[in-house]
Amino acid sequence: MKTRTRFAPSPTGFMHIGNLRTAIFEYLVAKHDNGDFLLRIEDTDQTRKVDGAIDFIYDTLKLCNIEIDEGPNNEGEYGPYVQSERLDIYKKYALELVEKGHAYYCFCTENELEEMREKANLRHKPFLYDGRCSKLSKEKIEENLKNGVPYVIRQKMPKVGETIVEDVIYGKIKIDNSILDDQILLKSDGFPTYNFANVIDDHLMAITHVIRGKEYLDQSAKYNLLYEAFGWEKPTYIHVPMVLGSDGNKLSKRNGDASFMDLYNEGFLPKAIVNYLVLLGWSPEENKEVFTMDELIKAFNPKRIGKSSSTYDIKKLEWFNQKYIKELNDEEYLAFIKPYLTYDISGKSNEWVDKLLLIYKDHLSYGKQIDEMVKIFFEDSISISKENEEFLKSDENIPIVIKTYHDELEKLNNWDVDAIAEVINIVKEKTGVKGKLLYMPIRIKISGVEHGPELPDEIYLIGREKVLDRLK
Ligand code: GLU
Repeated sequence: MKTRTRFAPSPTGFMHIGNLRTAIFEYLVAKHDNGDFLLRIEDTDQTRKVDGAIDFIYDTLKLCNIEIDEGPNNEGEYGPYVQSERLDIYKKYALELVEKGHAYYCFCTENELEEMREKANLRHKPFLYDGRCSKLSKEKIEENLKNGVPYVIRQKMPKVGETIVEDVIYGKIKIDNSILDDQILLKSDGFPTYNFANVIDDHLMAITHVIRGKEYLDQSAKYNLLYEAFGWEKPTYIHVPMVLGSDGNKLSKRNGDASFMDLYNEGFLPKAIVNYLVLLGWSPEENKEVFTMDELIKAFNPKRIGKSSSTYDIKKLEWFNQKYIKELNDEEYLAFIKPYLTYDISGKSNEWVDKLLLIYKDHLSYGKQIDEMVKIFFEDSISISKENEEFLKSDENIPIVIKTYHDELEKLNNWDVDAIAEVINIVKEKTGVKGKLLYMPIRIKISGVEHGPELPDEIYLIGREKVLDRLK
């Protein structure tokens, strides 16, 4: 049987990195076996739906180099791939279950349900539907249907025994049937619940491996009972532990937690994000951290996903991103970084801009940092800290060094890096000063700060006029 996995997000127009990690795992499981990776849109909760959300998911996955073999925008043989377009399918299968005695119509009103909830509350018990509608006579049911009484369809759970869920990561889980609620499969508005739709769709779409959040692990007992009721083969379950925010809470849109698009817009490379996310909870057999997608496809074994939740660590992601930025060739790097530079470069030559940006290639953790790093090359005035002012007064040679730099640089005909490097040597010879006292005073005078790129580069980029002015 061909391996087929599916990514099944709700169309909320947002993807936090925990969702994206699930998608990557699903993609890797499929591609490791040369299988298919599907996108299914789970929009049974219509209130959460956002326009353009499907394209947003396609764009996100495309940026991550994850190709969707079948989905709403590239249908295969198993469509439709959007749940709200499959309502007649769910209804047909819900009625089949009623027919087989594994489900029943429930006509209870909101008031009746509220009463049951209150009773359960008083006894400090979780609410379980008491099954009263499963006992209605055939005649009563027909009468109600004829009169258009609103109904839902509920799954009829066994009351004794246990149901087993087998999971690749968590092993064999036993769930006591007595705690299973006669859950709703079809709502009164004709929409299925997630609990029903996921089983129908996974079966009809020939999904072999279901990879999803661990919060669905216990629920899978109910899904297994549905598979059994239909006489269908169950998929392989791979429930993955959660990704927590640095505050120890579940990631969520509401908490403004790491969204893939936010990271992308800040200047994190999708390849770095993918690499980081895969290792968040999964460990490869070989001792290695940096992987291309092809290497991941080859190496990925879901059995090596850990059982405990992982914490999203932006510092580690920055580490990966820095590595990936360094690996870009100059052309790729310049194309990547230029959009993040917001200073006005209209009066500068391309060569000047490229040289400036290239200097910081090995120092950036993400794109948006570039403005702060190159600030000294754009701002008109510089400020020198008290400490640095003190340093400038700390040695009698310093004024001489500064004056010599000024005069020698003023004499230069060619304002280029080699000529400037030569000037530094001349100042060294003329003044007999070397080391920190040779480099620091000029750095501080021209930029205000003691750190920066190689001194000749720094002098060159700040430019003749400004350098001479500041050395005066
Ligand atoms: N729509 C579900 C979610 O976003 C999908 C769970 C699943 O993969 O079955 O959590």
